[in-house]
Amino acid sequence: MLWLLMTTGKCNLRCKYCGGSFDSKTVPYEESYDLDKLKELIEDDRDPTIIFYGGEPLVNYRYIMDVMDRIEFARFGIQTNGVLYKLLPEKYWRRLNVVLLSIDGREHITDAMRGKGVYKRVIEAATYVKNMGIETIARMTVTEKTDIYEDVTHLLEKGLFDKIHWQLNVVWTERWNFIEWARSSYLPGIRKLMDYFMINLERGEVLKIIPFLGVISSHYFPTLRGVACGAGYSSITVSTDGRIISCPIAVNEHWSEIGHINDGFRLVYDDYPEECKDCQYLRYCGGRCLYANKERYWGEDGWREIDQVTKEYLGIVLSEIDRINELVRSNIIKLEDLKYDPTKDSTEVIP
Ligand code: SF4
Ligand code: SF4
Repeated sequence: MLWLLMTTGKCNLRCKYCGGSFDSKTVPYEESYDLDKLKELIEDDRDPTIIFYGGEPLVNYRYIMDVMDRIEFARFGIQTNGVLYKLLPEKYWRRLNVVLLSIDGREHITDAMRGKGVYKRVIEAATYVKNMGIETIARMTVTEKTDIYEDVTHLLEKGLFDKIHWQLNVVWTERWNFIEWARSSYLPGIRKLMDYFMINLERGEVLKIIPFLGVISSHYFPTLRGVACGAGYSSITVSTDGRIISCPIAVNEHWSEIGHINDGFRLVYDDYPEECKDCQYLRYCGGRCLYANKERYWGEDGWREIDQVTKEYLGIVLSEIDRINELVRSNIIKLEDLKYDPTKDSTEVIP
């Protein structure tokens, strides 16, 4: 199971789509529970992956060291903006299996939303981590400034990221002209990027573009029992105050609370909205995002707009299944190479 450990509610940046730190009353800046209790809970899991999450987890690097000193049997990873990478001693970096770095693509796109100079710092952090042989994942936030083809291929060509993932900047920001941008830029870009993915696949190379690979994996190895991120059933989040929640974004929402460090937790499966139950894409999408389904900040029509774009993107990816079958039959790629488990990486698959 995936354990997202909120290391602190504090962040060292104030990115435009997020605004920076949580209120310390909601997500305190240091943990206030007994780490031995956490260890007891994780010990009951036969295959734990622990991902340090924030705020910005490196702000409280001491917690990361304390957890890693106590728990030896887990896979470890971190979701970080990378800027403070020097704070964590090298021996702890070396124990991480995967490092997810926030970067939005080209330098001017990243710096426009995250702050001047951030791109260079992330590249520096990615180089540091990559040189240790640790797997790296670029985590992009996609906004109206993004050209999805240009920004993803830019990151692939840097040669510093083993996988690329992105999330759309929707629902928890002010509503913007998402559908118009999706039609004129994003969906044509997805088509072009999928063509690029297929050209590489035909040469026997599987590009680790997670929003493509995760969907293709679900076609051949169907496993979803809820949203693709696993929120509530194969992924849980421990907040710094000891609450256990299904989704790391839902730190204030009562529906998200599924337990406490001191009392254990219950898992929640198949929590689909009505709209999803008969959807042809349910086995690939799982309802896209539990949080967005519960908290429809963009209203019902906003939910439908995002859903329309989700369906079109899924249609583009799945339109290549016949060609992929052919490549598997002719031994150009192995089916196993298309298998992807998002809970090992803490990615959501569906943007
Ligand atoms: S595509 Fe839309 S309706 Fe279908 S499962 Fe995903 S969110 Fe639900
Ligand atoms: S995709 Fe949605 S439900 Fe899953 S972790 Fe992200 S915000 Fe939470």
